[in-house]
Amino acid sequence: MIYLDNAATTRVFECAVSAAEQAMRDDFFNPNVTYKSGVAVKNAVEQARARIADIVGAQPRELYFTSCATESNNWVFECGRKNKKGNVVITAGEHASVYEPAMRIKSRGTDVRVVRLTRGGIVDTDAFAAAVDENTALVSVIHVSNETGAVNPVKELVKITRARSPHALFHSDGVQGMVKCGERIDDLGVDFYSASAHKLGGPKGIGLLYMRNGVNIAPMLCGGGQENGLRSGTQNTPYIAAFASAVERFAEIDDRKKTAELRNTLSRMFISEGCKIIAPDNNSGYILCVYVPDVRAEILQNLACDKGVIVGKGAACSGSKRGNRVLSEMGLNTAESERCLRISLSADTDAEQAVQAAEIITECAKAIRSGHLG
Ligand code: PLP
Repeated sequence: MIYLDNAATTRVFECAVSAAEQAMRDDFFNPNVTYKSGVAVKNAVEQARARIADIVGAQPRELYFTSCATESNNWVFECGRKNKKGNVVITAGEHASVYEPAMRIKSRGTDVRVVRLTRGGIVDTDAFAAAVDENTALVSVIHVSNETGAVNPVKELVKITRARSPHALFHSDGVQGMVKCGERIDDLGVDFYSASAHKLGGPKGIGLLYMRNGVNIAPMLCGGGQENGLRSGTQNTPYIAAFASAVERFAEIDDRKKTAELRNTLSRMFISEGCKIIAPDNNSGYILCVYVPDVRAEILQNLACDKGVIVGKGAACSGSKRGNRVLSEMGLNTAESERCLRISLSADTDAEQAVQAAEIITECAKAIRSGHLG
């Protein structure tokens, strides 16, 4: 099997499996008790937090473990606005876990402004500047698009926001950007940043919310007061250990230049077969969105799967919905967006296998066009 759907999820690194296993089997104590065995587990949680913080560019106390990035994003929208009456600015390129919470607060009466994308898949900076004003309470901009890999200029957008609305809080969904973009979170200047372990060789069901020192948020989950009183619930110690191991391993083996070169090679192969690359510029290097003329992505995806190649066709969590909200915001119609494949790479993607996969995909596309599906 050649697995190229890493934007949906990644294979869990062996070191992360071992870390989780040890925490489940041996170090199973509750980290919030006062006897030594539990205190050791608490220390391991704090060490994991510090190891992640060191790599992603944050202070350990700025990172809060959550159950997933969806939770982190919802937390910011439900509890992260100081001025509940202020407006909220998001982009049309947000993942559903930002877009839907934004629509929920809109249905309760908040003025939610959705800023359009350029054809290149990033936020239109002029439209963004026009949307933010002195009454803006919260801004949320996806760091790297999960659909196309387009990288938003978050640092610049933070500056625009600070100049126009000194009280606005800035959130970025960094699920496809953390570690992969090589930018430190604290250097971006954001107030909040969400991430998830399963996009970096860690398990599903563990995420984090970065909260800049001095920024306040009300807890969404109240109870025993874990995570500095802000996110109650006994910490998922096995997955926290796995998260730290995965982030370390990813950062250690990742070669962003090589990944970007591989993406370019694959792009050229598809272009030479008459395909079009969506959002070709300013890309994270890990995601390649390919428009394959005359072939429905779902059929191509399934035929490729039969031949051992696994690729995506847009956000996995919106898999059952027709069309694609983000691609249509970039100017593609429904028929076009249904012909887009998403090929996504990871730190451990084998270049030769990826090239072989691209050949298999183009053969499958030809077979579908000519009606010879086998
Ligand atoms: N945000 C982006 C950009 C994503 O790609 C995903 C996952 O697909 C999420 C948020 C949700 O992450 P999680 O699965 O941890 O809830």
